[in-house]
Amino acid sequence: MESPRATTWRYGNFGLPFVLLLVKQNCMHIITTFYFFKAMGSLADLPAVRKELEQKGRELGLHGLFILAPEGLNTTCSGGSETMISSFKSWIKERFNLSHLDAKDSLSERAPFGEFKVKIRPEICTLGSPGLVPTQKENGHLSAEEWERVLREEKNVVLIDTRNDYEYDIGTFQGAINPKIEQFSDFPDFVEEQGYEQDQKILIFCTGGVRCEKAILDLQQRGYTNVLQLQGGILNYLQKFPRSKFLGECFVFDQRVALDQDLQPTRQYCLCPHCGQPGKIKLNCIRCDGDAVICARCASRSVCGETCSKNCAHHYALSPKKKGRRQWPSWRRLKACEVEQV
Ligand SMILES: [Zn+2]
Ligand SMILES: [Zn+2]
Repeated sequence: MESPRATTWRYGNFGLPFVLLLVKQNCMHIITTFYFFKAMGSLADLPAVRKELEQKGRELGLHGLFILAPEGLNTTCSGGSETMISSFKSWIKERFNLSHLDAKDSLSERAPFGEFKVKIRPEICTLGSPGLVPTQKENGHLSAEEWERVLREEKNVVLIDTRNDYEYDIGTFQGAINPKIEQFSDFPDFVEEQGYEQDQKILIFCTGGVRCEKAILDLQQRGYTNVLQLQGGILNYLQKFPRSKFLGECFVFDQRVALDQDLQPTRQYCLCPHCGQPGKIKLNCIRCDGDAVICARCASRSVCGETCSKNCAHHYALSPKKKGRRQWPSWRRLKACEVEQV
């Protein structure tokens, strides 16, 4: 791919709008999401692996978030070209000796990450059971096609969202149960509290599939014999069945906030400046007159529901009559979200 500077030089005679269009096309981000379970050594061994990942990321100019644990690796990362991403995936396969890497790729005009970060954790998704790791590739996985068929044809199934409350709120499968959990580690206890028969057909799903890989093992250990999981999660399903059984948008843990039915960054939700959860309620700040987008929960609270930022909320609570300087982050958030001005 040509660099923006080369493009300007070559197409200089065609005028600025044309050049800007090409530069914009060059700014497309290729995003890849994948995870794998593989013994990485002990926690003490992981800083060395992190260093290798950081070095490779720097070399290829990637951004992203990596969760590295003794049980494996979980990431969403992005690069400026297909070549960068595919060479990174080839390197990952070779470095970690993987026969296969199941990655989901998408495109975004909005940069999903500002940096390259590798976090070391006891698990690649926190169930609170570091020893619980899938030993076989297949364990009750339903392909997107099978999942769609079961949802359309079978009546006696229990469908449960393994994700957090705020993820459920902005989009989920039609008829899915919201466990109302605040953290994933509470999920198996929630299922047990429902008192299902041990052979009840239970369908579970999450964003990209990794949470279900661990949750299903926990449920099987508790004696449930008919648990099924959505292969590749909602992101894989939406690739094949947009505008079908999944309603709303899918929350993602990066600056895109959520993806719509076409896996494009949301045009509705921003991260709430008060609590960091997705929201779409527009307001004009009572203290600084700046525009902001906040979540429904904060909108119903007295000070947060009237202010654009933590800073304005703090000062407004101290002296409600005093006006303050406009908070620029609220403008930036609005722009990123493409929300119309209030
Ligand atoms: Zn909020
Ligand atoms: Zn304000």
